[in-house]
Amino acid sequence: MTLAEARKLLRENLKTSGAVNNIQEADMLLCRLLNIPRASILGYPEKILTAEESAALLKALGRRASGEPLQYVLGEAHFWGLTFEVGEGVLIPRPETELLVETALASLPLSSPSLFLDWGAGCGCAAAALLLERPLAWAVLAEKNPLSLRWAWRNLKRHGLLGRALLWHSREPGDIPVEKNSLALVVSNPPYIPTGEISDLMREVRDHEPHLALDGGPDGLDCYQALFRFAPLWLKAGGFLTVEIGGAFQVERLRLLAPPSLYLMKEVPDYADIPRCMAWRTSPSSLS
Ligand code: GLN
Repeated sequence: MTLAEARKLLRENLKTSGAVNNIQEADMLLCRLLNIPRASILGYPEKILTAEESAALLKALGRRASGEPLQYVLGEAHFWGLTFEVGEGVLIPRPETELLVETALASLPLSSPSLFLDWGAGCGCAAAALLLERPLAWAVLAEKNPLSLRWAWRNLKRHGLLGRALLWHSREPGDIPVEKNSLALVVSNPPYIPTGEISDLMREVRDHEPHLALDGGPDGLDCYQALFRFAPLWLKAGGFLTVEIGGAFQVERLRLLAPPSLYLMKEVPDYADIPRCMAWRTSPSSLS
C-alpha cells in the first residue's frame, strides 16, 4: 500500500464510521503512526508502506472506527501548546480547561515560591501548564483514579516537572498531605456532569472516557461541596479556589453554596459564552 492509498483508505473508512473531520483525522493518524510531517504525505504519495506500518494503521483505524476517541488512538492530546500522553482511564484535556489555567495563573506569583493543589488532576495538564508558567511554584496533584494518576506521572516526567510535584492517590480530600493555611491556590476541574445526563453525552465520551472524571452526582455539584469544605482550611489568607464549572445552570447554585469565608472574585465565560470558571478568595486578613 502506498501513502496515497493509505490516506484514501483512512479517509473513506473514517467517513463511513461517522468521524466528522475524516480528512484531518486521516492525516493525523498517518503523521503519528508513520512519524512523518504532514508535508511528506503530499510530497511522497508513492512511498510504499512497510507491512508493520500498514498493520499499525489498520489497527488504529479499527479502534477509531469503533468509536474510540482520536486522542486515545493517537496516544496524545494538545493543551496549552504542550503535548500530553493520554489513553484509557484518563479524561482527554479540553480546550475550555485552558481558561481554568489562565484564570488560576493570576493567583500564583511569578517571582516567589508558592504551593498549589490540583484536585482531580487527571492527566496532569492543568498542573503542568501552571508549573511551567510559574517556575518557582510547587504542586500537589490529587487524583482518585489510579489509571489517571499513571498518565499524570508520565506527563509530569515528560515535561521535566516531577521534581516540583507530589502525585497523591486520594480517596477523599481529608487524606491529602496538605497543611492548614499552606496553599496559594486550589485549582480543580472536577467531574460536574449531573448523573442523569451522562447517558446523553457523545458516544466517544460516554463509552470511553472515565465516568469518575465526568459524573458529578445528582446535580453535578458533589465535588464542589467537598471543595467548599476543605479549600478554606488548606488555603492561606488571600488564597484562591479556582474551578471549572459545567455552565450557567451551576453558577447560581455555587454562589449560594460557597461558604462565607470565600469571596467570589470571578466568573469567566468560555469562547461559546458559557460560564466556565469561577474563582473565590479567602480574606487576605483572615487569621484562620
Ligand atoms: N467538559 C467535559 C465534557 O464536556 C466534562 C469535564 C468534567 O466533568 N470536568 O465532557
